[in-house]
Amino acid sequence: MKVRAYSNNLFQLTRLGFVNCYLVREEDGFTLIDTGMSGQAQSIIQVAQGVGRPIVRVVLTHAHIDHVGSLDALHEALPDAQVAISERDARFLSGDKSLDPSEPQVPLRGGYPVCKTRPTVLLHEGDRIGSLEVIATPGHTPGHLAFLDTRDSAIIAGDAFQTLGGVAVSGTFKPLFPLPALATWHKGLALESARKLLALQPSLLTVGHGRMLEHPQTAMERAIRVMEQSLAKEQGKQTHVA
Ligand SMILES: [Zn+2]
Repeated sequence: MKVRAYSNNLFQLTRLGFVNCYLVREEDGFTLIDTGMSGQAQSIIQVAQGVGRPIVRVVLTHAHIDHVGSLDALHEALPDAQVAISERDARFLSGDKSLDPSEPQVPLRGGYPVCKTRPTVLLHEGDRIGSLEVIATPGHTPGHLAFLDTRDSAIIAGDAFQTLGGVAVSGTFKPLFPLPALATWHKGLALESARKLLALQPSLLTVGHGRMLEHPQTAMERAIRVMEQSLAKEQGKQTHVA
């Protein structure tokens, strides 16, 4: 597992070169954001131990398999750590893959494994968890969340953006790393969420797949324009067919 420290507060842990999770330093220990795929629990715990701090919270950006894969093993190893996810994506952890009537009725994509672990905290837009502000960023999944570190305006964006294979809004097909696009539920919502993250003027963009990006605003703007154009083209085609 490769570890990159961005600052004293933020460590990026990368497995196999393309799956990231993050340790965010807080007064009382680390908040772990996402858990990677299965089999990563012990190496994540070792990284935290190496820095000399316990993991006191496990926070999930969304319920896809490459983000919750080691959740059960981590919960078993760290039974006192809080487990937090959006109230919406929490339903996927328990195997409920229904859509709400108010949501776009398009099929879910990507793997949503059932987990034994029950969240102890259900998150909503505007909540605070440690130094992190909860930003609802639906689109990639219905209850996808990003987190804004209020100390330095770093954003932990989950799969709302990717930087591997090029900076892209979730749902934009990047041939060099197509997985996030293939797992995206609703591109229109993903685009709105990307605009919302840009409006927060982040100092740093960190993502589930790919490297961290300092001063990310120009790259985010460009990625948003690409998604706008691709959606406009798709809509054009649909009107044409109709
Ligand atoms: Zn995902």
